[in-house]
Amino acid sequence: MSKRVVSGIKPSGELTIGNYLGAMKGWAANQHKDGYENFFFIANLHAITVKQDPELLRKRTMDIVAWLLTSGVDPNRSVIFIQSMIPAHSEICWILNNYVTMGELGKMTQFKDKSQKTGREGQIAGLFDYPVLMAGDVLLYDADEIPVGVDQVQHVELARTIAQRFNNSHGETFKIPKATLTENSSRIMSLNEPEKKMSKSESQDSYVAMDDKPEAIIKKFKRAVTDSDNTIKKATDKPAISNLLAIYSGFTDRSIEEIEKEYEGAGYGKFKNDLGEIVAGVLDSWQKRFSEIREDNDRIQNVISEGNSKAETLAKEKLGIVKDKLGLH
Ligand code: ATP
Ligand code: MG
Repeated sequence: MSKRVVSGIKPSGELTIGNYLGAMKGWAANQHKDGYENFFFIANLHAITVKQDPELLRKRTMDIVAWLLTSGVDPNRSVIFIQSMIPAHSEICWILNNYVTMGELGKMTQFKDKSQKTGREGQIAGLFDYPVLMAGDVLLYDADEIPVGVDQVQHVELARTIAQRFNNSHGETFKIPKATLTENSSRIMSLNEPEKKMSKSESQDSYVAMDDKPEAIIKKFKRAVTDSDNTIKKATDKPAISNLLAIYSGFTDRSIEEIEKEYEGAGYGKFKNDLGEIVAGVLDSWQKRFSEIREDNDRIQNVISEGNSKAETLAKEKLGIVKDKLGLH
């Protein structure tokens, strides 16, 4: 039996090298492992938990599809689909809302973090509820594995709880999914606040975007915060240089130990400059490929309609079973 992997990216900003190293790179690699079926989706229903400009949301959705193709996700090996185009996602979310408590959702660290500014009462209900939508995203497809960063492990745990609860009430319906930590599960951190993760919805100087120009990339790495001493060494009390080493390693596929050795005795200045040039070089060539793919609208539309159709067949079938059990059919 093959294992099914389901994972998504929100079109909530420009894709960053954090998204590439923590998600897309691993997705592309996973396609070449035997015994895996891969489902990757653009999580636009999740993106609207934060206000989005409609035109920009539409554009970014297509951009992400093109970036997936650019980074080696192959529509012949993986199903690429758009969440909002498959109504079963919204439907299952409503149903699963009845198998989770306010207490369980209120405990989610991400909800608590994101509610610090507004306070709980001022927070959007969609943001409170989004782990349930996420549970639906994976339960609809009988996912075995959910490759996530550490920030999402708690949400996968909740999806397991919801699935088990539903199964206990109505008999075996959902497969219980497992979180698998992506290779860079240590996470790529912000360039100016290395104790926070790099996020596409944060300020531009905190991340490198996949479509940043070479000069901008080099400048961003030059300006990246560093730790107090001047040695290129990974350490828990040196979050900034550890993060830059992780990025260097991710873009060169060389081990951190090897890189540390090469830069023994060199200062941060040289290291950051080299890193900027490496990342700029790689992204520059990918951006050319991206532009070609992005301009071929027919190809993108084909990938989406084929992916949607494959995903929808499975999602509808599972939703049908669920509705049947609940007397909704
Ligand atoms: P947002 O700020 O809108 O939440 P994001 O940059 O966190 O955006 P998501 O769409 O939430 O991106 O996540 C897409 C995928 O990228 C997920 O698999 C997530 O675990 C991974 N990811 C996001 N940021 C990082 C990071 N800094 N390091 C490693 N992986 C990351
Ligand atoms: Mg995120």
